[in-house]
Amino acid sequence: MTTLLDELKALIAIKGPITVERFMELALAHPEFGYYMNRDPFGATGDFTTAPEISQMFGELIGLWAADVWAKMGSPNPVRLVELGPGRGTLMSDALRAARIAPDFRAALDVWLMETSPTLAAVQHELLLDSGVAIAWAQTLKDVPEGPAIVIGNEFLDALPVRQFVRANGQWRERVVRLTEEGGLVFGVASNPEPYIRGNAHDGEVLEVNPAGHRFMFELGGRLVKQGGAALLVDYGHAVTHVGDTLQALRAHRYVDPLAMPGESDLTAHVDFAAMARSAAATGAAVYGPIDQGDFLRAIGIDLRTKALAGRAGPERSEELQQARNRLVGKGKGEMGALFKAMAVANRNLPAPPGFHPPTPRPA
Ligand code: SAH
Repeated sequence: MTTLLDELKALIAIKGPITVERFMELALAHPEFGYYMNRDPFGATGDFTTAPEISQMFGELIGLWAADVWAKMGSPNPVRLVELGPGRGTLMSDALRAARIAPDFRAALDVWLMETSPTLAAVQHELLLDSGVAIAWAQTLKDVPEGPAIVIGNEFLDALPVRQFVRANGQWRERVVRLTEEGGLVFGVASNPEPYIRGNAHDGEVLEVNPAGHRFMFELGGRLVKQGGAALLVDYGHAVTHVGDTLQALRAHRYVDPLAMPGESDLTAHVDFAAMARSAAATGAAVYGPIDQGDFLRAIGIDLRTKALAGRAGPERSEELQQARNRLVGKGKGEMGALFKAMAVANRNLPAPPGFHPPTPRPA
């Protein structure tokens, strides 16, 4: 049986080293062997778990966040509710259920799921069949019909392929994947320097750039400025740009060598929120945050929601809810509250979205 590893080795043997960006792109989205293309990687039996899979409260609160944003937009009907990289569809399912308390919002919804994986699109279809809301699938934001939009994405940006540059002798060189004498995969550096990459660093340090993320933020901001609406992006990453190799691979909830099992381990890079914010702001959109996920969830009511659900449940379920809340909000080891950040992008005619303070002026 051929694997992606065999394919990549053959490709590199013929064409020479490939960039980290190309490697990541093929590992995740190769039509036949790409990681997301043919599997459901989530949950206890999968490779990793995400906030909506940890607790229904995550999607519910984001559903109410969207309903509030919609009211502040002047209650447009229809409104496109777009989710980026919806995974199993759990967040959307919980959001639509919670939105039952806002029937006018639900009635105005035209839901679009932006998903590249046919396998996951099928899982989403199955889960959302009975949601009572019309749902369609898109490959890119351009496929979503014009009009005011509310866009949400959890762990979407971290799945986009990054370029890496390594500092050596005062120059940046692109990081590549090449073959060893024995025919295995190893990291290397391109022979030509990249003079247009700016920034100083010590020899051996790595700088990451997310071109697909920049293109997406530019398109998103442009759309929100022209057609109205707001977006919420939640991901793990850093608020300030800094150097460092953040490429990581997860398999069965353990870190593995990113080159060891391409296509069979999840490959991500931390999101540089400052860089993403710059591209969104360049379109004229307002950018809010990033703020810690824990602070965002508390500001939009996770503690009340935990209490309300726990009040209706038995002691065991009540304990479970409290633990889930702590995992999402807590800022200690193994908790997501500080590691993950939330950032919003919105049309300037809108007030700050729920959970965010008015934007702080950014240095030019
Ligand atoms: N939001 C989900 C899943 C996160 S995993 C959750 O929180 O559980 C990343 C998701 O993004 C997967 O559904 C993957 O198939 C999808 N994805 C990756 N690259 C994409 C792209 N370029 N366009 C659309 N979806 C993409």
